Amino acid sequence: MQDILVLGAGMVGVSTALALQGRGHRVVLADRRAPGEETSYGNAGVIQAEAAEPYAMPRDLPTLLRYALGGSNDLVWSPAGIAAMAPALWRYFRASSPARHRAVSAVYSQLTAQACTAHAPLIEASGSGNLIAREGLAILHRDPKAFEVAASEARRLQEAYGVPFRAVAGAAWMREEPSLLKAPAGVIHYTGSWSCSDPGGLTKAYAALFESRGGTIAAADAATLRRTSSGWQVAGAEGPVSAQAVVLCLGPWTGQLLKRFGISVPMVLKRGYHAHYQAPQMPRRPFLDAANGIVVAGMRKGLRLSSGAALVAHGAKADPRQLRRAEASVGGLIELGPRIEEPQWSGTRPCLPGMLPMVGPVPRETGLWVNFGHGHQGFTLGPVTADILARALDGELKQDATGSLPHVLSPASQLS
Ligand SMILES: Cc1cc2nc3c(=O)[nH]c(=O)nc-3n(C[C@H](O)[C@H](O)[C@H](O)COP(=O)(O)OP(=O)(O)OC[C@H]3O[C@@H](n4cnc5c(N)ncnc54)[C@H](O)[C@@H]3O)c2cc1C
Repeated sequence: MQDILVLGAGMVGVSTALALQGRGHRVVLADRRAPGEETSYGNAGVIQAEAAEPYAMPRDLPTLLRYALGGSNDLVWSPAGIAAMAPALWRYFRASSPARHRAVSAVYSQLTAQACTAHAPLIEASGSGNLIAREGLAILHRDPKAFEVAASEARRLQEAYGVPFRAVAGAAWMREEPSLLKAPAGVIHYTGSWSCSDPGGLTKAYAALFESRGGTIAAADAATLRRTSSGWQVAGAEGPVSAQAVVLCLGPWTGQLLKRFGISVPMVLKRGYHAHYQAPQMPRRPFLDAANGIVVAGMRKGLRLSSGAALVAHGAKADPRQLRRAEASVGGLIELGPRIEEPQWSGTRPCLPGMLPMVGPVPRETGLWVNFGHGHQGFTLGPVTADILARALDGELKQDATGSLPHVLSPASQLS
């Protein structure tokens, strides 16, 4: 048994604390905020078993031109954002070649395939079943050609990775989804995915489970992390917190902290926004409006629209133009109702150019571990990579000759 400090209480950190605790370690979970209040709060809440392939950077000229000219709502960018992330974007571009993406997907699909099974016992033990729908995820296509292409893509995913789906014509879908105002051309219904009506609430429920099992939650700023003669220490609000090992689960902030230890990790930080509406009727299951890159999901707080990616500089002013455009077009598909007044939320998908999360020990820094870089699917994958991290920390998973653990990017092979 070790004393372990987990820094960052998003879905990844909370799951990591639970996995380590489950193996008999004494764990302190520390964050500068309460659990589940950053990226893990504001996402679209889908446990994406269908996401067998990580999101690659498009490489074809027409799509790149469309992005460059601002003709797409699923991605926007600013010159400062592109300049700040240029080295990471270049690596991302190279890693997105068909051959490399295929190789990464062979691994990634094994992670997402375990997602629902890994969440299930935590949902049960934390009494959160009321937040979860096992109704799948729908991808709505307005254009018949796009629907045809999507159907053949879904068939490919089914054949390659066993991802279950139904292709449903728009008129038939209207009978299944009475909240829609008009029929799309067609819908790909990925039936194996789950969804959560309060992602921050689920993260908090997992954190409460960790506490109820004897874990400690502390307020601390990770920036105070320092090495001691016996391990690691942060300055907590109620005094120093010491441990033999520390696991960094700081999502999009992990790269900043590693820099303090002279370690450089190029990250692609994809900002996203959400807004809530008092819709008179919620959809039965979340759906992606494919033409707009917007996910529409019924949440406890209201109908949530979640935007695609904005490649902007860290700390850039909020620019929720993707939400504004979506509001206009999604409003024709489903009655949004009045927008709920709240400060504009934004969060950042912590993406690594190699498209796999980075999990494992940091080379040459005894007792320093990382579990971050879950990109578009951190809410999905939290419990899955938590288990990998915990098994590796207990010496049950061996690194190969390149320093890699199974299914993830290991720091030894990635960090400079
Ligand atoms: C719009 C949008 C929609 C998304 N939809 C989905 C979806 O449907 N399904 C899915 O699987 N994923 C989705 N994602 C991605 C997912 O939300 C993230 O991958 C995931 O939340 C990352 O979790 P995390 O625990 O790594 O990071 P976070 O949840 O951000 O947690 C990091 C924690 O570190 C803490 N922290 C940071 N700095 C410090 C410090 N100095 N000291 C102490 N604590 C610190 C923060 O307070 C925070 O609690 C979406 C993301 C966005 C933006």
